[in-house]
Amino acid sequence: MTESQPDLQSRFLGCLVGCAVGDALGAPFEGYWEHQLPGRTALLRGFAEVDGYPRGQYTDDTQLTLATVESIVGQGGVEPADIARRIAALWKSSSVVGPGGACTFAAHAFLKTRDWTSCGAPVGQAGNGTAMRTAALGLAFLRDPERLPEAVANVSRITHQDPRSVAGGIAIAKAAQLLATPDPVDQGSFCGAIAGAIRPYEATFASLIEDLPLRLQEDRETAFYAIAWAGSAKPEFSRPVITPFVVPTVLAALWVVLQHRSSWPDAVAAAIQLGGDVDTLGAIVGALMGIRLGITAIPAHLAEGVLRSNSIRLLAEQYFLTVAAMAGD
Ligand SMILES: [Mg+2]
Repeated sequence: MTESQPDLQSRFLGCLVGCAVGDALGAPFEGYWEHQLPGRTALLRGFAEVDGYPRGQYTDDTQLTLATVESIVGQGGVEPADIARRIAALWKSSSVVGPGGACTFAAHAFLKTRDWTSCGAPVGQAGNGTAMRTAALGLAFLRDPERLPEAVANVSRITHQDPRSVAGGIAIAKAAQLLATPDPVDQGSFCGAIAGAIRPYEATFASLIEDLPLRLQEDRETAFYAIAWAGSAKPEFSRPVITPFVVPTVLAALWVVLQHRSSWPDAVAAAIQLGGDVDTLGAIVGALMGIRLGITAIPAHLAEGVLRSNSIRLLAEQYFLTVAAMAGD
């Protein structure tokens, strides 16, 4: 099947709007099990309600993504100190929706010390709070992919010092960079390139990503089980679900993208239907698929109905121009 070929600006729009829409679609169902989730059609019909918030409300995943992009636009480049300041400002103003523990720890530490190199949650806390916000960051390195791993590692370390979380942040940024080209996506080389980018940071995680093409040959149940408990000593629950642990989150997101790479709605619905940390899965897969297929691949009623849709689009356009200027265009 031939994939559509969006222009680069459409990919930037698809990334930010896709992140917000996927996040907002998943948020009402955070913590649900697979069998409790609505079917594809019901899920995509419109935004369900999160108690106390308007429909189309997105959460920390999108808020930290937007803070990162606003920083790059403001600075004309990737400056971890400014990104840390903007992330911490979300906590200072108490405006974070559904924050994770490590990011909360890091934001408070930064507000005290102003030192982005040491404020990240300590090793042992390996949540997905890095990967949830780095798809957009990967687009800053389209012309300079060799710089991506270490630059994204630094931005990841603002919130998490654990090498698994750092590697997860790099993995999603690398996936974003690879998906932003018109080239067909070959499973083996896609997973190999991501594994190569993270191997210096976390070799075991790299091997799990390199093995994803094997998961794609297995039946869904077998693969889902292997992915859900990857990186854990033993299964946390009797049935598979995607917890906020970074290893299964990243594997699940890439697994879904590779299975549904020609349909934004199919991919995002499949991601949310895994259950568990589904706002984060929706945000990551929504962003990656938006990069791959462009803004027009996102159903219009969702792209227009998500909160702050117009200002997110405007920011995406500014980000596109900023990255073009960074590349010397
Ligand atoms: Mg969230």
